[in-house]
Amino acid sequence: MNLIFLGTGAAEGVPAMYCRCEYCTQVRKTGGKDLRTRSAFRIGDRYQIDINFDNNWQMHRCGIDMYAIEHILITHTHADHFQFEEIVAKEMSVSGQANGKLLNIYMSLPAKAWIENLLASLYTPKVYEKKLRILNERYRIHGLEYFREYHIGDLDVETLKGSHRLREGDEYAMNYLILFPDGTRLLYALDTGWYPEETWDFLEGKTVDVLILDCTFGGRTDRPEYPAGHLDLLSFVKMLERMIAINFISARTRIFATHINPHQGLLHEALQKKFDETRFNVTVAYDGLTL
Ligand SMILES: [Zn+2]
Ligand SMILES: [Zn+2]
Ligand SMILES: [Zn+2]
Repeated sequence: MNLIFLGTGAAEGVPAMYCRCEYCTQVRKTGGKDLRTRSAFRIGDRYQIDINFDNNWQMHRCGIDMYAIEHILITHTHADHFQFEEIVAKEMSVSGQANGKLLNIYMSLPAKAWIENLLASLYTPKVYEKKLRILNERYRIHGLEYFREYHIGDLDVETLKGSHRLREGDEYAMNYLILFPDGTRLLYALDTGWYPEETWDFLEGKTVDVLILDCTFGGRTDRPEYPAGHLDLLSFVKMLERMIAINFISARTRIFATHINPHQGLLHEALQKKFDETRFNVTVAYDGLTL
């Protein structure tokens, strides 16, 4: 199964479209690995984590499509991770060439409740009812609990609670610990800051082969030691120290930093160099990177 970083940018993408700071101007000029669309991740033909407004371009760039997608795991309902219109775009396949299969969408229970409220607020009750009927025929939104295990297609998926709270409510980003049929384990850990103790407890006794971790604020050094919401290089390394102490990661674990913000000082190469100075084997992800 091909694993593809479809996008590796934080909320605004890189460069930020309304910004002419030195960093964004530089990236506009030199492009390359510093050009980042909003974060999403592809697992083979049938699975994807998150779907955002850059989805169509990400498909073109990687030479893939959404045809065979059956399962989309949503980390949380911030706009850079979840765009409902990109999902229901399947209905626009008026050629009749969409695959005709049910499209399953997974998210935390609070995320599901938020979306249902949002949809209800957009339409009159009559139109809403009709929309829901169509939606339920062709899509299924599954509400997941934190710290549980689910079978999704051929994957075993455990749900972690990230330190990334939305709208001061009860939705926290869901991080997904995925077991593939070949025995490989992958943790997709964004968005998140320093994990809460209940999440650390959940990781006890578990291991991972591929770790993909939030590094939104890369080069910033003005943040708390154990930040909530997002990580930076310093707290990222602190997370790794604790993960290795509980044997969740080992020297064999492949580690990737992603969800990069343009206003943290370090371009791709400089951020990679900083990681190379640590004792961990970390690759700064970039759009299109395939594992
Ligand atoms: Zn995000
Ligand atoms: Zn900028
Ligand atoms: Zn977010």
